[in-house]
Amino acid sequence: MISLSHYQQQLDYLNKAEQQRAIPSLSHTGRYLYRDNQRLVNVSSNDYLGLAADTSLAAEFLALNNAETLRFGSSSSRLLTGNNAEIDQLEHELSEWWYLALNADHLAAHTGTAIKNDIEEKSDTASATPPFMRAALVVNSGYHANIGLLPALTKVPLATLILADKLVHASLIDGIQLSRCDYQRYRHNDHTHLRQLLAKADERYERIIIVTESLFSMDGDFADLKDLVALKQSDPRIELYVDEAHAVGVFGHYGVGLAEQTGTLADIDYLVGTFGKAMASMGAYVLCHPTVKAWLINTMRSLIFSTALPAVNHAWTRFILAKLPYYFAERQRLAELAHTLREAVAAVSTQPMQSDSHIVPYILGSNAAAMAKANELRVAGFYALPIRPPTVAKGSARIRLVINATLQDEELQALIKAL
Ligand SMILES: *Cc1c(COP(=O)(O)O)cnc(C)c1O
Repeated sequence: MISLSHYQQQLDYLNKAEQQRAIPSLSHTGRYLYRDNQRLVNVSSNDYLGLAADTSLAAEFLALNNAETLRFGSSSSRLLTGNNAEIDQLEHELSEWWYLALNADHLAAHTGTAIKNDIEEKSDTASATPPFMRAALVVNSGYHANIGLLPALTKVPLATLILADKLVHASLIDGIQLSRCDYQRYRHNDHTHLRQLLAKADERYERIIIVTESLFSMDGDFADLKDLVALKQSDPRIELYVDEAHAVGVFGHYGVGLAEQTGTLADIDYLVGTFGKAMASMGAYVLCHPTVKAWLINTMRSLIFSTALPAVNHAWTRFILAKLPYYFAERQRLAELAHTLREAVAAVSTQPMQSDSHIVPYILGSNAAAMAKANELRVAGFYALPIRPPTVAKGSARIRLVINATLQDEELQALIKAL
């Protein structure tokens, strides 16, 4: 017999601490979200460019495709019968995108057509430059990518130490734990601390993998990727693993992410990005050396032992990826909105503003204060979620404001007023 009373008691504790989670019932129409029949502007979504809410994109995609050419189930792992031409093409296009960004002249003011020519020319020369080659491996989600990658990488006989930022995503923590390697966490974005840990790292470690997000999901701040590259040049044992989940589509001229924006693409050994956020789809990729990709195909359990996403999903991802490099205006608009919101939150908050991005935390401290503010915002017509411990540190409960490029000026002003 299961002992329900134990679960219930624990749930009661969570409830008392205002920490019990529940799945809200929601519906969506275009860019609006409905909850209890109230129409709300969604300022909690990861749909940064507004592509998931854009029904005209879905209509365009459906007009190009049909159920005869695209399957809605893949029936097995990619290693058995689940692979298809859509995933293979998607992987090819992801490595071209990476290569395009690597070679882009960030200062040149391109027009849409100039970039198109660029894409064609650069992809012709891609295979001629082996030192900068990256292969893409597509997996089912960012969670699958992060829980699978470290355990697979560390299956080679190399004494490995993992050094991870204190605030990396739960999926990365799970990946570290599954790798069963020695690991340490450095204080968030504190490279002085990271340098101390590196200096103390035992000589018997043959490899040190530094793990970070590029844009942190709870504080909206950036990792200093250039400094990580400088560190890597100081010790040949270092490899860099960067998760760009929140930066894909948003940063860099072509939307590859913060690594593109900071000119560090060629120095990051394992670059993870996801399709579920700005790309309005589902799935994730790892960009790595082709030899590493071959190793992952042999050892990455979250790839090998999970049914592939269906072809229809990959076709949609390809449809979005083809457009992604051209959303300059949306990226610019998002940057401007985010700048205004950060200044407004800094003006009302007692805490310093950490964010560099469109993820803008409004830190209120107690769980109750964060819940109350979320309710006030809801009355004002905004769906903004309170984030509480253990997702964030104790005493730093917050409203996590996440804006997207479709937010109207009047809406932003109303939001700021309601803060
Ligand atoms: C969302 C997220 C993931 C998980 O990606 P999914 O595709 O949603 O599984 C991984 N890493 C980071 C940093 C994320 O924000």
